[in-house]
Amino acid sequence: MKILSLHCDYINFKPKKKALKSIDDLDEKEKSEKKIENALAIFLAAEKNDNEEIVNKLVKNIQEIADQVNLDNKKVVLYPYAHLSSNLASPENAVKLLDMTEKQLEDKGFEVVKAPFGYYKQFELKCKGHPLSELSREITSDEGEVEEKEMGEKERGKLLNEIRNSQLDTSKLKENDHRIIGQKMDLFSFNNMAPGMVFWHNNGLTLKKEIVNFWREEHKKAGYEEIETPQILDKKLWQVSGHWEKYKENIFLTEYEDRYFAIKPMNCPGGMLIYKTSPKSYKDLPLRVAELGVVHRQELSGTLGGLFRVIRITQDDAHIFCTEEQLEDEIGKIIELTENIYNKFNLKFDHVELSTRPEKRIGSDEIWDKAEGALENVLKKRKMKYNLNPGDGAFYGPKIDFHVIDSQGRTWQTSTLQLDMAMPERFDIEYTDKDNEKKRPVMLHRTLLGSLERFIGVLIEDTKGNFPAWLSPIQVRVVNHTDRNTDACKNFIEKAKNKIPDLRIDDDFRSSTVNSKIKEAEEIKIPYTIVIGDKEEDNNTIAVRKKGEKPNYGINPEEFLDNLKEEIDERK
Ligand SMILES: [Zn+2]
Repeated sequence: MKILSLHCDYINFKPKKKALKSIDDLDEKEKSEKKIENALAIFLAAEKNDNEEIVNKLVKNIQEIADQVNLDNKKVVLYPYAHLSSNLASPENAVKLLDMTEKQLEDKGFEVVKAPFGYYKQFELKCKGHPLSELSREITSDEGEVEEKEMGEKERGKLLNEIRNSQLDTSKLKENDHRIIGQKMDLFSFNNMAPGMVFWHNNGLTLKKEIVNFWREEHKKAGYEEIETPQILDKKLWQVSGHWEKYKENIFLTEYEDRYFAIKPMNCPGGMLIYKTSPKSYKDLPLRVAELGVVHRQELSGTLGGLFRVIRITQDDAHIFCTEEQLEDEIGKIIELTENIYNKFNLKFDHVELSTRPEKRIGSDEIWDKAEGALENVLKKRKMKYNLNPGDGAFYGPKIDFHVIDSQGRTWQTSTLQLDMAMPERFDIEYTDKDNEKKRPVMLHRTLLGSLERFIGVLIEDTKGNFPAWLSPIQVRVVNHTDRNTDACKNFIEKAKNKIPDLRIDDDFRSSTVNSKIKEAEEIKIPYTIVIGDKEEDNNTIAVRKKGEKPNYGINPEEFLDNLKEEIDERK
């Protein structure tokens, strides 16, 4: 049973037309308009399986509400209102329950007016508007499940305040902290309603999407497929993968139809299920499967810090399935792809760390020799600086971690490449080799950017928010010198959009000075600010101010746009 209780100054209603065929016709008196003053109107919808027990509870609820709102005259209007539920009782049962309710209320001294059931009705009411005048409740058969859905205004206000109290405390942060730049540029925010989970604003999401577009293009060129797997997966899967045993305390859990589910902390098990959907042969290998997956990992809230350590992580994951012979080649290709991607962001590898076999491990020494040898060979061939961490590998395979160096000389661990001898075994995945024998592929896990959140944090601090044009949330701002030049500015914007349809261009036509408008554009790191004054209009030119540089006057607008298009398209 669902009810909506409205304490009102008055309620009028008049039946208009029958809504259900099976309902008896009303007589003239019942058809007339009724007006009841100072009443408690109970709008209600009886639901499937509702019974006498529910009616008893309903009456108890109505009594409670009547007491709370000091309903001295004890006038109650029972108003059948089917729209409260999508799981309605049969009309017969609903009528029976309504009658029962009426009788019980009358027995308790209430004066009851019942609006006709099964009719379209016109109604009007004036709600008193005090904090308890609107309440909705769901009345169910389980003890303790009588839920008060509407809370008082006061309580709600208190909760709302708690939600608002999650402002960024900048007092202990350095000026170039990505959280400060992020706020200034309106990129993202955090709220204690979702600890460690980023609220991406339009500007930040624009940046993220541009990175992802680039990432996708590079992966396509490098021969990757892309997949997407579910967010929530049955516990059994995590037991098979081994994450349940090793990683349980970091997993968010949820329940559904008496089954336990994990909100995925990793993408691999879902990917394994896709691998298993079709038989594979040696011709399918190497199989490179990328997934830009969103994973959640529980961390202590005290350890969270801006974008650097989050709970909701967008991970640029990929798994490579290959033969032992292909392994070295594949590792080389991953390193190449990693370098390509980092070069674009002007981040260079500083060094890598190679972690080798721990004491407790699975797999024969022979296979560990091969795996570690493959990793080391590639690093040597590429003359990469690496540190050896003997014994630091996972029990299922050796790994290499990549450290990049930023403009301020700080190093960041970002990419990881991990060989896995366990998971193919646990999921029993195989391929048919040339000799028709079933064999296990070698599996590599790798992330290049790692966590996209963290990578963006690094990028913000590395560039201090001075992104290249292709990444900038706003690429061009057009400023008028005076109101006289507004139309010329609008024309330029139109021309720009025709030439570069995806261009992120905006305007500042406020009446403040040109200098203050330019200063503001510089502060939010817009790469190009265009100024048009009378002189520019007369000569059909623009003044271009590249961020941080002196303005260039007398620029041909077409030429500027051609150059800008090239700069963006080529991600310069
Ligand atoms: Zn993986």
